[in-house]
Amino acid sequence: MDIRSERIISLKALIVHNSACHVSVVNDSISNLINALNSKDVATVYADSADDAAAVLNNDETIELVLLDWVMSDSEQNNESAKRVIQSLRRKNQSIPLFLLLDNRQAENLNHEIMRETDELIWVQEDTPFFLAGRIHSAILAYRDKIVPPLTRAIFEFAEKYEYSWHTPGHAGGTAFMKSAVGRAFHDYFGENLLRSDLSISVGELGSLLDHSGPIGDSEKFCARVFGADRAYTVTNGSSMSNRVIMMSSVARDDYALCDRNAHKSTEQALTMTGVIPTYLMPSRNYLGIIGPVYARQLSGDAVKEAIASNPLATDKNKKPLHSIITNSTYDGLTYHVPTVIKQLNSSVDRIHFDEAWYGYARFNPLYAERFGMYGEPDDYPRDLPTIFTTTSTHKLLAALSQASLIGVRDGRNSVPHERFNEAYMMHASTSPLYPIIMANEVSAEMMRGQSGQHLTTESITEAVRFRQAVRRIRRELQENDDWFFSTWNADFVPDPESGKKISFEDAPLSLLVTDPRCWELREGDIWHGFKGIEDSYCMLDPIKVSVVMPGVATDGSLENAGIPAALVTAFLSQKGIQVEKTTDFTILFLFSLGITKGKYGTLINALLKFKDAYDNNIPVKHLLYAHEDECPEAFKNKGLKDLANEMFLFFKETDLIKVQEKAFTILPKPVLTPAEAYIRLVHNDIETVSVDDLYNRTLATGVVPYPPGIPMIMPGENAGDKDSPYIKYLQILQLWDRRFPGFGHDIHGVENKNGVYYVQCLKESI
Ligand SMILES: *Cc1c(COP(=O)(O)O)cnc(C)c1O
Repeated sequence: MDIRSERIISLKALIVHNSACHVSVVNDSISNLINALNSKDVATVYADSADDAAAVLNNDETIELVLLDWVMSDSEQNNESAKRVIQSLRRKNQSIPLFLLLDNRQAENLNHEIMRETDELIWVQEDTPFFLAGRIHSAILAYRDKIVPPLTRAIFEFAEKYEYSWHTPGHAGGTAFMKSAVGRAFHDYFGENLLRSDLSISVGELGSLLDHSGPIGDSEKFCARVFGADRAYTVTNGSSMSNRVIMMSSVARDDYALCDRNAHKSTEQALTMTGVIPTYLMPSRNYLGIIGPVYARQLSGDAVKEAIASNPLATDKNKKPLHSIITNSTYDGLTYHVPTVIKQLNSSVDRIHFDEAWYGYARFNPLYAERFGMYGEPDDYPRDLPTIFTTTSTHKLLAALSQASLIGVRDGRNSVPHERFNEAYMMHASTSPLYPIIMANEVSAEMMRGQSGQHLTTESITEAVRFRQAVRRIRRELQENDDWFFSTWNADFVPDPESGKKISFEDAPLSLLVTDPRCWELREGDIWHGFKGIEDSYCMLDPIKVSVVMPGVATDGSLENAGIPAALVTAFLSQKGIQVEKTTDFTILFLFSLGITKGKYGTLINALLKFKDAYDNNIPVKHLLYAHEDECPEAFKNKGLKDLANEMFLFFKETDLIKVQEKAFTILPKPVLTPAEAYIRLVHNDIETVSVDDLYNRTLATGVVPYPPGIPMIMPGENAGDKDSPYIKYLQILQLWDRRFPGFGHDIHGVENKNGVYYVQCLKESI
């Protein structure tokens, strides 16, 4: 197949050659070879030492072949330079073609190891430059052929045929857009290739997403292999759809399911659609308000029985749950030891569903071994254990397009066979999926396959660790002078594998922190994580999800004398063009994703230092937090940054916000109706709007999810409780905050803020 076309970037080879240690006829031959390559549209990049070559290989991902001079120096005995190039190349990429350039002197020292890593040996003086250039050209094309996954290849090939379209989509490869000015602008913006790849399901040779046939089916099989699943399903409406499909295939009305209370909205919707009766698993929560894992002991057979026994909706106390859903990792990067989860749940459920929307890279770095649903190899999975489902938003932390998601299935006990599963799948899928989304799924998989996944993930982890160490070193230096700085949420000390002693995080070698999971595991009794009584090594913090911690909260959850609410820092960073992932009361989450560029964190540290200076000097907020001074609310016009921080911090103290929040998120409200029953009332308009102050003893029609922490405080069909209700109290405090601090308001799903009053949808009659 020739997938070289005007659509694809030109071919490129790296030539590693040191002319100083060759006679001129050899150098002439190499020059001629380069000319011949260029005439065949193969661009060449040049490096004249091993270091130079390593730098090019690290920075230029478009190189598709390496031509390496076996003799790089007159002074070395054992061709060390060339060997180093081979090593660094193969560490990163096993399959890129490597041609070794030899002159007539030097074939000794070529042992079998070197030969194994090499694809071809060429004697530059023996063959003509055009012949050699031809071989190189074909090797590059063969390599491309190998790395392009099935559907992408089929689409590339299809585009080459330039067929007339007599089917939908009606824009017919983009030509309809050319008939108007706005259409033309749209066409030019995205380019012809995207529009010509937007094809109908009636193009039979591309297969079908709904019956998983042809190149689309091959694409799913390819993804299954890469992610370690027995089966994979490509999804074009996000993991939101994936979660709903899995639940719909596994449970039906009045079945029982176990459900992590820390679950995404799509899980709540799946509960509504299926009519299942959920029993919630309550996750832990620490002094910073970070939501942790559901402890292992809560997953034991006895604990599950007890949870069902105390669930008023689960009236048949002998009925077993069929399905269990767990969020792995959590938003803040807490990951489960999956074999332990399976062992614990084994006696209770036949199917375990890990929502791994934020965690698609886990398989590709040994740091995360056994901490993701598809751990190990499918062939090694004992089939009498529960069936495992996973959902991955490939667009979130792998390089795919928005809406791309993958479902993985590992068949164990009481699995859902493909035919049955597909009924649920088709219920949620469009009959007209966008092919570039499906292509992006398999491209994201190919990018992670083999060595390159480990290379890419190691890069993100390394940058995250460097950032964490840098912040903590600055903090240590400043603290020595009784000054303050931010911190990062991770262990203060890590075990040194050589001495067995503990070394401080900021002094630990980078290589240790990047590769040793023990540096990130939560241990019982360690103070930093704050999850009391957590089982040793059951949970691991993912280094790439970095929570920066504000000063102000002690590890026992009490508030210190002064502190800085994170919302202020986020507002400050935003004015500096830095957008964060998530802000809680006293932490800010930064993601070190695959898209990270080296040293990007330097700008962030810089901005944090600038915040510190502005805070210490109490600079007026009107100059700091707003694009234009007149956007600053009247109430803050004369306030400095420190004044405002103090005022906010005092609010936390006076309202006891942290303690109230803890209660609201650790005690389950009383369920009155299932989410499905509450939804029926909603559809029948059997509901009314109720203000927060009147919420006592009311049952909610829609859920309430405050951000942070972003987990449901009250689910649809649950009762808000009586006069002592922590839920109502918490909402009242947030309501008061929103009035006092305009512009710093809370985002609460399920709550409407009308002129400073919070309203919630409740069922009409109280039950
Ligand atoms: C984002 C997210 C989803 C939904 O994924 P989309 O691809 O955005 O539809 C599901 N679960 C969790 C935990 C998420 O964070």
